[in-house]
Amino acid sequence: MANFRTHLSVAAAGGAVLAHGGWQAGLWSAVDSLPILALTALGGILPDIDSDSSKAIRLIFNLLAVPAVVAAAVMLQPRLSDGALLLVCGAIYLGVRYVAGAVFARFTVHRGLWHSLLAGAMCGLATSAISYRLFPLSEALAWAHGGALAVGFAIHLLLDEIYSVDLEGARLKRSFGTAFKPFDFRDPGNSLAMLCVTLSLAPWLPSWDGLLALAQQGQALMPGGWR
Ligand SMILES: [Zn+2]
Repeated sequence: MANFRTHLSVAAAGGAVLAHGGWQAGLWSAVDSLPILALTALGGILPDIDSDSSKAIRLIFNLLAVPAVVAAAVMLQPRLSDGALLLVCGAIYLGVRYVAGAVFARFTVHRGLWHSLLAGAMCGLATSAISYRLFPLSEALAWAHGGALAVGFAIHLLLDEIYSVDLEGARLKRSFGTAFKPFDFRDPGNSLAMLCVTLSLAPWLPSWDGLLALAQQGQALMPGGWR
C-alpha cells in the first residue's frame, strides 16, 4: 500500500491542479481555491482513518477535531456563556481527538468499509452539508467543497490499488481489489448502514440546482465540452 507521505503529496498535488483549474475557469476566486486544495489533501488521507497505524490516525483526528470545535462554537455561541463555551469546545476537541480515535481503531478493519467509494460519497456529501449550513457560502461552492474531498478520497483509493500491483513482476498482490470498490462486499450490514447515513444527509445538502449550476459552468469551460 502507498504510505502516508505518498498519499498526502499526491492528493495535495491533485488538489492544487483542481483548485488552480477551477480558479482559472472562473468557478471560484483565488481565495476560495485554498479550501479546495486543503479539502482534496484531507480527502487523500481520510480513508486511512481505518488504519491502526498511529501516525495517520493521530493526524486525521487532530484535523477533524478542528472543524468539530469550530462548528460547535458557531452553533452554541448564542446559547452559552463564554466560560461554558470554552469548556464545551475543549471537551469536544478531546472527545474527537482521543475518544473517537480510539473507538475507530477498535471497531474498524483496515481497508474495510472506509476504503470504498460509498465512504467517499458519504464524506463528500457531509462536507458539502457542513460547508453550506455553517458558513455563508454559495450552493455551488459548498458542492465544490464536498467534491474536492471526494476527489481526494478517490485519489487515495486509486493509489492503494496501484500500489497493490507488483510493478516489477506485474503480479497482483493479495490486497488488490480491496481499496477501490463501491462498498464493502464482505460487510453488507455495515455497508447498508453507511448507505442509510449517506441518504439521511439529504435534508442538509445545498440544493441540487447548485450542483447542476456548478457542473454546467465547469462543462461549458471545458475544451470540447457540451455547449
Ligand atoms: Zn489506504
